[in-house]
Amino acid sequence: MVAWVAICWRSSEAREESRMSFDSTKALRSATGRAKSDVANKLVSMFLHEVSRRACLAGGMTVSNPDYLRAVVDAFGHRCIYCGRDLEHDRAAVEHLDGMNRFRVGLHVPGNVAVSCRRCNNEKRRDDQKPCLTLAGSGWESFLSHDGSRCSVNCKTCTYWSAIWPDESEKLMTLHEACDRIRLLRKSFGRFVSWSELARPAIQHRVEGLYRACQDFATGEIDKLTSELNFDFSALKVTD
Ligand SMILES: [Zn+2]
Ligand SMILES: [Zn+2]
Repeated sequence: MVAWVAICWRSSEAREESRMSFDSTKALRSATGRAKSDVANKLVSMFLHEVSRRACLAGGMTVSNPDYLRAVVDAFGHRCIYCGRDLEHDRAAVEHLDGMNRFRVGLHVPGNVAVSCRRCNNEKRRDDQKPCLTLAGSGWESFLSHDGSRCSVNCKTCTYWSAIWPDESEKLMTLHEACDRIRLLRKSFGRFVSWSELARPAIQHRVEGLYRACQDFATGEIDKLTSELNFDFSALKVTD
């Protein structure tokens, strides 16, 4: 009975904690800005996909080529490339080691694409969304570098890894092994990886321009269209 009460108390406390970690007012406040940046991010992703398509065509290989698929399975099996847990149907995500966004400028080419669990895919976004990385030179290396030795005690990624492997030496070893396996895969498709690295500054320059142009277009066009509607809003005014 005592144990049961303790469990109930703990789970209601956990629920309260998770409720407290989500701030509805913050989510509502940021919703408008996010809608606009989602459009810009989508355009950036489309641009990166088009560059990738041309690179794959020139390199004579795509990520769906049987040789590439075999190489990915040989390197990771049917497991998450980061945490090594078995992938489950509907809980796996196509993962770009260098994220396909305006900060990481990753491409959909051999050597940069594999499969991770959804949880790792989500957790890695924190690093992928940082304009500048401090733990490593790339998003995937940074994600695997949260070993608890260089971040603040509140670091969510460090906490994530520690929760998966409470044993410190097992955690360090597994993170290290994941890094090695990924490096090996990238080495096998080195021509795509090296080309992407050389092309990155030029692509990034255009990506930033595209992102800004899209934001400006969206703001201007929305203002123009809304003004054209010329609605009579008087019925919405507060009356005594
Ligand atoms: Zn994972
Ligand atoms: Zn950390």
